[in-house]
Amino acid sequence: MNTKLVILDRDGTINVDSDEFIKSPEEWHPIEGALEAIGRLNHAGYHVVLATNQSGLGRGLMDVASLNAIHDKMNKQLSKVGGRIDAIFYCPHAPEESCQCRKPAPGLLEQIAERYGMGLEGVPFVGDSLRDLQAAQAAGCRPHLVLTGKSVGLRGQALPTDYPAQTQAHHDLDAFVSHWLRAVAASSAALSASAG
Ligand SMILES: [Mg+2]
Ligand SMILES: [Zn+2]
Repeated sequence: MNTKLVILDRDGTINVDSDEFIKSPEEWHPIEGALEAIGRLNHAGYHVVLATNQSGLGRGLMDVASLNAIHDKMNKQLSKVGGRIDAIFYCPHAPEESCQCRKPAPGLLEQIAERYGMGLEGVPFVGDSLRDLQAAQAAGCRPHLVLTGKSVGLRGQALPTDYPAQTQAHHDLDAFVSHWLRAVAASSAALSASAG
């Protein structure tokens, strides 16, 4: 049986984003309710994995030690609310390096599929940017948009027509998790009803 997996973007999805990049633990602040939401996924048996562009590395704005320190802070705060991130897949490249892993390219998601030895059909990828949705679509994930970070301006509006048609939008990560756990419970109830 496949691992129960949810893939998340980081900046603007879990933590407050910044146009100046998040370069140190001091600059990393969780979005209200996001860490608890990850904990609820874990509690329901989900493995949570991150797929994040970190071009601050390729641009020379921070080093890997700083990125690790940021993730230490995140993991410590998560563990206080019973949450855990399994693995962090990041693209370290600058845009002009034309790599295969910087979203909207699906490389990070393909690495995750390889690591878990499974296809990504039906696996949700949750992010705050169009490029997250595009990466999700290219890798066969279900695209979920959170209206935090880069998409706060889309609250209360219809999604732009160039967004992937299957995109589902949610107020924030907490709302996504509530939606997802409800949807999973409903479909397993339907399954057991048809089996019984
Ligand atoms: Mg983001
Ligand atoms: Zn890359």
